[in-house]
Amino acid sequence: MTRMLIVGPQGSGKGTQAKLISEKLGIVAIATGDIFRANIKGETELGKEAKKYVDAGDLVPDSLTNRLVEDRLSWDDAAGGFLLDGYPRNRTQAATLDEMLSRLGVDLDLVLELTADTEELTQRLKKRAEIEGRDDDADENVIRRRLELFESETRPMIDEYKTRGLAKQVDGLGSVEDVNARIMAAIQA
Ligand code: ADP
Repeated sequence: MTRMLIVGPQGSGKGTQAKLISEKLGIVAIATGDIFRANIKGETELGKEAKKYVDAGDLVPDSLTNRLVEDRLSWDDAAGGFLLDGYPRNRTQAATLDEMLSRLGVDLDLVLELTADTEELTQRLKKRAEIEGRDDDADENVIRRRLELFESETRPMIDEYKTRGLAKQVDGLGSVEDVNARIMAAIQA
């Protein structure tokens, strides 16, 4: 299992688990949100284009996001495998990813879906706002917008992966270690 996606709503712990999976499997974790934030901080051209969307909790346009990922997947460190965190986020991006992978001559092995209920997610995001200082976690309207987009855009994409038999669900509630143990079991199963 070397080419995988981790999906789940905001606050489900994707980023934390992505780092652990990446260490344990020795594959690179690529998080589109982290790449956007780094570019916004560095005031690059990409950052300037992405900023208004990220600040509002909207999706950065597919064309921009797809190009970014295609470039990132061409780096040497992604040749032996990768874990994508935060991409794809809708059916268009998923279709584009399929095309990229077919050009590279590789297949997707697994889509890990982390689940958690909305109440728990909102609590976690508020806590994260205090710890990490992310602007998009500090504003309740922006949090709501991101969770809405997860339901309207990302959920149908996950359903499609389920239909293709690629998705596995893992309960995201509990300690980081417990959730990670469930994930590693699911990967090895
Ligand atoms: P979260 O999952 O908590 O929203 P991320 O770090 O994954 O956090 O994403 C932060 C923001 O970056 C998103 O709200 C969105 O504006 C942008 N973003 C990240 N990934 C994508 C993507 N695949 N497509 C479009 N926008 C994205």
